[in-house]
Amino acid sequence: MSDRYASFAHTGPGRALVKRLGLPDPPRLRRYRPGDPLAHGPVRLDAASGGRLVEPLAKLLTSAGVKITDPTATEPGDSATEPGDSAGRVPPQAALLYDATGITDSSGLRALFDFFHPLARALHPSGRVVVFGTPPESCGTPREATAQRALEGLTRSIGKEFGRGTTAQLVYVASGAERAVASTLRFLLSGRSAYVSGQVVRIGPAEVPEVDWARPLDGRIALVTGAARGIGAQVAEVLAADGAQVVALDVPAAGDALAEVANAVGGTAVQLDLTAPDAPLRLADHLADRHGRVDVVVHNAGITRDRTLGRMSPDWWDSVLEVNLTSQERINDVLLDRELIPRGGRLIGVSSIAGIAGNRGQTNYATSKAGVIGLVHSMAPVLAERGITVNAVAPGFIETRLTARIPLVLREAGRRMNSMAQGGLPVDVAQTIAWFASPGSAGVTGNVVRVCGQSLLGA
Ligand code: NAD
Repeated sequence: MSDRYASFAHTGPGRALVKRLGLPDPPRLRRYRPGDPLAHGPVRLDAASGGRLVEPLAKLLTSAGVKITDPTATEPGDSATEPGDSAGRVPPQAALLYDATGITDSSGLRALFDFFHPLARALHPSGRVVVFGTPPESCGTPREATAQRALEGLTRSIGKEFGRGTTAQLVYVASGAERAVASTLRFLLSGRSAYVSGQVVRIGPAEVPEVDWARPLDGRIALVTGAARGIGAQVAEVLAADGAQVVALDVPAAGDALAEVANAVGGTAVQLDLTAPDAPLRLADHLADRHGRVDVVVHNAGITRDRTLGRMSPDWWDSVLEVNLTSQERINDVLLDRELIPRGGRLIGVSSIAGIAGNRGQTNYATSKAGVIGLVHSMAPVLAERGITVNAVAPGFIETRLTARIPLVLREAGRRMNSMAQGGLPVDVAQTIAWFASPGSAGVTGNVVRVCGQSLLGA
């Protein structure tokens, strides 16, 4: 579905009008294209004194071919553009990375101002800001926990302030997880995370295998439900491009579209209504017979049946809860009982910002999607014992047939009420799922990451 306003705003006269009237100004987002370098330019990396991540981060960046800027470098001959920057203009940076793990009390937060203040206008369009901290719950003292929690306010505000497609995230890295950050750093630096901003990601200790970053899912079997169209079809495409053998599942009525998707990605198609009583057993039999296992399970299939609660039929309540939540639990139970998901397995749910913020006319949908978040949080510690991770994406306004049906005024509001002033694309959700699916993301579990351009809803 095309965003005519954004197309107009990108023309010469459109730009002028948007500027003059102070209208929402959707930037062109830099999305990932195969062969892209990890960062489109040099990056600035610094740390508060005593930071435990700056060294591993520097090593990761250098081994990925990213140039780290010398902090004393300025462009010669330019006059200062920022107060305090008397030596000259800071050359444009692709990313600003800050290791804040050394901050142990609130007075130490001043180091953040000192780092970001002179660099606030030095980012390329679609630049990246990532702050690394220690999870507050594992800090040694209440003062340290307070300071680490404060980081969230900084990154969320930078996401709203810097503009021009900049994303800003906070990554809490547990002690002992210093070597588990590569997949997350790569995702957040690259164009794969173009529509993800203002998020808090947690990484725990884990053994991370050697990863082929060009095809991280080589040799993996990935099940994608609801794969006949929309976000699911795009997930199938991205996981296949990352090397996975995709099992694409959808209802029999969507058989033709499903076959097209499966053929296009060199995968196989399974026609199955997930709500059928025998669906979990039939699916488990299929996966066991054909592949002997399933490494990645993406529970993407979902429906809406919108009506205010007083006017909603019991059928509409039941069907939404059944497709979006209960059937997923039943499938997980059978796949886990039969040990079809091996160590290194990945369970990935698709929630929604409606599950975080709630939404008028969507009590059934929001309940089911909040349940997906509950599933992630409750299952993460249980599955950790089996070496399996569980995470979910929570998309905001994504341009699909589902959102094309929303009345015009509400649709425009949904598109613009975020830091990017535009809707996301199915590929933005798919790339976030691919990051969770990567073998490199062994330490990423129990996370719910919004793919919403930092929507104001539920923020
Ligand atoms: P969509 O309607 O285009 O696709 C959903 C797919 O799920 C369809 O192909 C459908 O046939 C399949 N499906 C539905 N019931 C099924 C069942 N019982 N068994 C098997 N397959 C079934 O939707 P979409 O926009 O691509 O959304 C995909 C997921 O993302 C959903 O879970 C949705 O709730 C979530 N989501 C979407 C948005 C958005 O803006 N589009 C926002 C937040 C969350």
